[in-house]
Amino acid sequence: MIEFKGVTKVYGSGGNEVKALDGIDLEVKKGEICGVIGFSGAGKSTLIRTVNLLERPTAGQIIVDGLDLTALSKKDVRGVKRKIGMVFQHFNLLNSKTVYANVAIPLLLSNVPQKVIKERVAELLSFVGLEDKANQYPDQLSGGQKQRVGIARALATQPSILLCDEATSALDPQTTASILKLLKKINEEYNITILMITHEMSVIREVCDTVAVIEGGKIIESGSVFEVFSNP
Ligand code: ADP
Ligand code: ADP
Repeated sequence: MIEFKGVTKVYGSGGNEVKALDGIDLEVKKGEICGVIGFSGAGKSTLIRTVNLLERPTAGQIIVDGLDLTALSKKDVRGVKRKIGMVFQHFNLLNSKTVYANVAIPLLLSNVPQKVIKERVAELLSFVGLEDKANQYPDQLSGGQKQRVGIARALATQPSILLCDEATSALDPQTTASILKLLKKINEEYNITILMITHEMSVIREVCDTVAVIEGGKIIESGSVFEVFSNP
């Protein structure tokens, strides 16, 4: 589903180069929840941003569903972006827009007809448990509710892949547990492949099937959560 082959990313140039990713090889299979864990500065955000086409690798390939992301035509870029949803640590909601409008944004951008948007947003809000919040503004919601809106928005275009960038790091433990449960439900009911980055071991243990440990831009260990964590 997602395959990283020798992915390297160097920021800057001249004497100011930073090698954020250094030859990443990693495979995430369809229907899997894969967690990438590492300390701050390890390269996690850069890794996830290369899949979302927000950063371009300096070298290597990223293959998503058979498509090489490093060699896409403009037309393919739009298609791939629709297939990949992203959930952010700080939700990235538009505060001047209602919950309904926030979730509708990706559909508007994809020129989906209004009638379909209405139905789809209602379905999504009900799926994440916010059917009664459509006309509220983000400021009127708790952190967990905001993240549910972020998740509904990420699912709007019916992606096959969901990327989570520290999706629970701004939430308290109880809210974290409920958001992780929702992610698991998305994975199971829609068979969506999830790639999540986190610095918290508990998140990996809670929901991930596989884990990759990243350090200094390199994957230093990977495998099933059971294998990796049972090592002495
Ligand atoms: P993490 O998400 O694990 O904290 P990042 O991917 O954000 O790691 O960063 C990896 C390395 O790349 C760090 O040394 C960071 O300072 C550097 N870095 C990240 N983004 C940029 C950028 N836009 N320009 C220059 N260096 C960057
Ligand atoms: P269909 O797409 O033919 O309605 P599905 O079994 O694919 O049938 O979907 C059942 C319901 O789940 C539909 O109402 C659909 O909108 C919703 N759904 C399917 N995939 C996703 C997804 N990735 N994210 C959110 N909702 C989805």
